[in-house]
Amino acid sequence: MFPTITKFQNYGQQAVEAARDIGQGFAVTLDHLNRSSITVHYPYEKILPSERFRGRIHFEFDKCIACEVRVRVCPINLPVVDWSLTRGVRKKQLKSYSIDFGVCIFCGNCVEYCPTNCLSMTEEYELSSYDRHESNYDQSALGRLPFSTSQDFSIQRL
Ligand code: SF4
Ligand code: SF4
Repeated sequence: MFPTITKFQNYGQQAVEAARDIGQGFAVTLDHLNRSSITVHYPYEKILPSERFRGRIHFEFDKCIACEVRVRVCPINLPVVDWSLTRGVRKKQLKSYSIDFGVCIFCGNCVEYCPTNCLSMTEEYELSSYDRHESNYDQSALGRLPFSTSQDFSIQRL
């Protein structure tokens, strides 16, 4: 007789605990129902990047002195700087310049240390491509003026 009563008591306790846990779960769900969503329907909606967002790097070919400082400060030795020495004027002549954004970690070291400020971070973040080699930007692609998300009028903003 007594073991049966104990079993019922345990069953009752477990049922109460389960109901309490379910109630707590519903309370969390209801709490979130009252909040506005923080995700957007990309690419139809976009959130403007923050002021110090580190996106695609913009490069100004004419300002570069081919000092290769950025190659030394880059944690993964990424930028490829090709230059030749002009013997008459004893000056480096920049021939080509590239950054592979498939490898770059957007740390911003190169922008920080470039002595001529020819590098800057833009707010461009749509850099995906079907071919990984397309992520390797040469000086022409790097020199393209940045596209500002704030000027993207086709996008519905929040
Ligand atoms: S640090 Fe600046 S100036 Fe020097 S090679 Fe790099 S981009 Fe050119
Ligand atoms: S942002 Fe960082 S990882 Fe990318 S090229 Fe510059 S230094 Fe290298």
